[in-house]
Amino acid sequence: MNRNMMKPGVSSRDIYSGEYESKSIPISYQEKSSQSRMLIKGGKVVNDDFMFDADVYMEDGIIKQVGKDLVIPGGTKVLEAKGKMIIPGGIDTHTHFQFPFMGTTSIDDFYTGTKAALAGGTTMIMNFVPAQDVSLLEAYETWRGWADEKVCCDYAFHVIISSWNEKTEEEMEILTKEKGLNSFKMFMAYEDLQMRDKDLLQIFETCARIGAIAQVHAENGDVITMNEKKLLRMGVTGPEGHLYSRPEEIEAEATHRAIVLANQVNCPLYVVHVMSKTAGDIIAEKRQKGYNVYGEAIAAALGTDGLHYFNKCWQHAAAFVMSPPLRPDPTTPKHLMQLLASGVLQATGSDHCTFNLSQKGLGCKDFSKIPNGVNGVEDRLSVIWEKGVMSGYLDPCRFVAITSTNAAKIFNIYPRKGRIQVGSDADIVVWDPHASRTISVKTHHQAVDFNIFEGMEVRGVPVYVISRGKLVVEEGQVHVSQGAGRYIPTQPFSPYVFACLQQRELFPPPVSRNDSDVPDGEIPTTPVSASSIPREYMHAKSAAEFHSRPPTRSGGRNLQDSTFSLSGAQIDDAKGQRSGIRVNNPPGGHSTGLW
Ligand SMILES: [Zn+2]
Repeated sequence: MNRNMMKPGVSSRDIYSGEYESKSIPISYQEKSSQSRMLIKGGKVVNDDFMFDADVYMEDGIIKQVGKDLVIPGGTKVLEAKGKMIIPGGIDTHTHFQFPFMGTTSIDDFYTGTKAALAGGTTMIMNFVPAQDVSLLEAYETWRGWADEKVCCDYAFHVIISSWNEKTEEEMEILTKEKGLNSFKMFMAYEDLQMRDKDLLQIFETCARIGAIAQVHAENGDVITMNEKKLLRMGVTGPEGHLYSRPEEIEAEATHRAIVLANQVNCPLYVVHVMSKTAGDIIAEKRQKGYNVYGEAIAAALGTDGLHYFNKCWQHAAAFVMSPPLRPDPTTPKHLMQLLASGVLQATGSDHCTFNLSQKGLGCKDFSKIPNGVNGVEDRLSVIWEKGVMSGYLDPCRFVAITSTNAAKIFNIYPRKGRIQVGSDADIVVWDPHASRTISVKTHHQAVDFNIFEGMEVRGVPVYVISRGKLVVEEGQVHVSQGAGRYIPTQPFSPYVFACLQQRELFPPPVSRNDSDVPDGEIPTTPVSASSIPREYMHAKSAAEFHSRPPTRSGGRNLQDSTFSLSGAQIDDAKGQRSGIRVNNPPGGHSTGLW
């Protein structure tokens, strides 16, 4: 018997603290275990940190063996994977299925949405739950009901908070402790959802305390409202008005503000759908300084751009309306891909929130009424493979990191999800890196009647998709069962996100003093002289003033650092001697005294 085999009767599920919530198990999952045994043979396993040739054996929805020359029970179904990659199923961090929004409801529901996800190699989605006019708990329960009866793959929730009161705090705590929910999203735009800075601070503070991740839709809503009115007065009513009303700098401003506010209360921040180069660069700059901020890119922003808003055909242009808008600068997708490649951005979603062209028509006379949202849940993996891996920005490991592993780590479901290893869920994709297909509304599984990637030829195709140990996609054929997916609880205090923050809570530490160091009642009259401050502390301080950027790869000083400081300190103060300053025969000859 292979030593990787589990002891009989011991479920590998036990190794995870997060248990499934009780739920009736659909008939399709009560099969005999011989029917749920599957072996993927001859492929290359790709995890976020390593690729290696191995076979993968799974049983009852769990990976049981990974390696060569496995001993497999009889009656096991075998999938041939020669020349293919075996990757963890994708995790889409950002979907809006059956989302009531802007006077209508998004057309992909939990059935068509998760079916399309599986068709494209995504085996888990994280969907947003709005809580307008109902309590957070009520919203959670309602949405669990809607999702459970329809989902074809596993799912989790992020809850949207659109008002703040004392009950909100209490409910956030209950959701986090009892309902397996560790992320809350706030909008900084959209009039009826927009949260003000003081509310954001309260929520950020609560998130930090209860171990949740705060997410923001970062755009300055007040500026947008003003711009929209102005543009409509000027007679700009088409989809291009959507773009004009939401320039890059207001995304960048809100991104910066959210990062600063979250940092003030030691809260981890996750910026959803980073759409512009400037917003991405702000995250880069803050992360370089040690801020606890994470960023997500979406398929639309990586695969297409905002020039479509200028299309003569109103319907075509309106189909691309989403917020923040796609940027017309055609170098944006490449820039965002580079930020994913370099680790500035960690996760990818789709912001899948689809409206048919007839629904988009609600805004035919006023761009501000066009329902916001685009497709992507089915297309995400292929678009990223084509634009990221085939373009030479990502290696296959990094591709896995940004399409599943990092999301699993951030939202605390790792290594149950996002990894091929013994004990992990059997959510697996056999990926053909060379096969190609053309994306089209005619062949996609999404319910929406438009595809923003129409006609794009992509290499990278999921040949087999396995969800919860069951083969759901087989060479283009999709066999899913409604209600087969499960709610995956996300536990608070994800170590990936909170380990640093918990340590930082210990700072600044008090100086430990003996009784004799502390004056008895009387305040000393002699001021503390500069010489009583240890010299190395002064050095450390002045050096820190300058070195806001880490050294270059070769260890030299980062030339983007200023050598100038208003305090009068010099960059080389920490060094004993300033070798660089030598004045030899200044012009006009030597002088002593006046300068
Ligand atoms: Zn969204």
